[in-house]
Amino acid sequence: MRHRLIIGNWKLNGNKNITKNFIKSLCTELSNISFCDIAIAPPAVYLYLAKQEISNINISLSAQNVDINLCGAFTGETSADMLKDIGVKYVIIGHSERRTYHKETNDFVAKKFQVLKQSGLIPVLCIGETQEENEAGKTEEVCSNQIDAILKTQGILAFQKSVIAYEPIWSIGTGKSANPIQVQKVHNFIRNYLKKQDTTIAEQIIIQYGGSVNDEKKATEFFMQPDIDGILVGGASLKLNVFISIIRAIATTNKNLKSELNIIK
Ligand code: PEP
Repeated sequence: MRHRLIIGNWKLNGNKNITKNFIKSLCTELSNISFCDIAIAPPAVYLYLAKQEISNINISLSAQNVDINLCGAFTGETSADMLKDIGVKYVIIGHSERRTYHKETNDFVAKKFQVLKQSGLIPVLCIGETQEENEAGKTEEVCSNQIDAILKTQGILAFQKSVIAYEPIWSIGTGKSANPIQVQKVHNFIRNYLKKQDTTIAEQIIIQYGGSVNDEKKATEFFMQPDIDGILVGGASLKLNVFISIIRAIATTNKNLKSELNIIK
C-alpha cells in the first residue's frame, strides 16, 4: 500500500540556527506520528546538521539535487553516495527551477534518476507543464514525455519505490494553487500511464502535488482526492505552524487516522 508523504523543500533558504530549531521543534510537535512520512529538504550544506537533529523515525531527510556522477573531477557537485552516506532518503530531481535556471533536460534528469536508484535513494521526480502548455491543453503530453525519458532508459521497474511530484510550473511560488479536481485528473492520468506498463508499480507509486499549498484548508482539498498521495511544499515549509497544519490535513481527511490526531499537539 502506498503511504502519504509530505516533503518540505526549503530551496535556497535557512541557516544553522533555523535548521536546528526547526527540526527540533518539528520532532517534538510530531512525536510518534505514524500516518505519513515527512521529509525536510534543506540546502545541501545543512543536511548533515538536520540529520543530527532528527529524533523521530518518521521524519526523513531529502536533498534538493544530486549530480549524475558518483565521484571524480566534478568541482562543486554532490554525489548520490555522499547523500546516502549522511542519511538522506529522498532526492528531489527535475524541479522546474533547475530545469529553468540550470537548463536541465528530460534526458539529464533521467540520468539523475538512474544514479539515485543505483545508490538506493528515492527519487522525487518533479514533472509539470508551463502556463502556456496548460492553456494549449498539453499537460498530459508534457508529463508523459518527462516520464518517458526514464521509461525508455530504465524501464518501468525503475519506478518501484519512487515518487513523482506533479508540479504545474505556473502554480509554484505564485500563490495560485491548481484546482484539486483538475490535479486529480492529471494524477489519474499519470497512474494510468504507468499502469500500461505495470499495474502493481502504478498502484504503489506515490504521486505528490506541489504548487502554492500554504494552508490546512487547501491541503485538505488535495488530500480528499484518491490519487493525490502527498504534497511537496515549498515556501510554506519554512513556517513551522503552517507546515504542521498541512500535515494535520492528512489526518482530518481520513477517518481511520482521526485517532492519531491527538498525537499532533
Ligand atoms: C516547490 O518549489 O516545489 C513548491 C511547491 O513551491 P511552493 O509551495 O512555494 O509553490
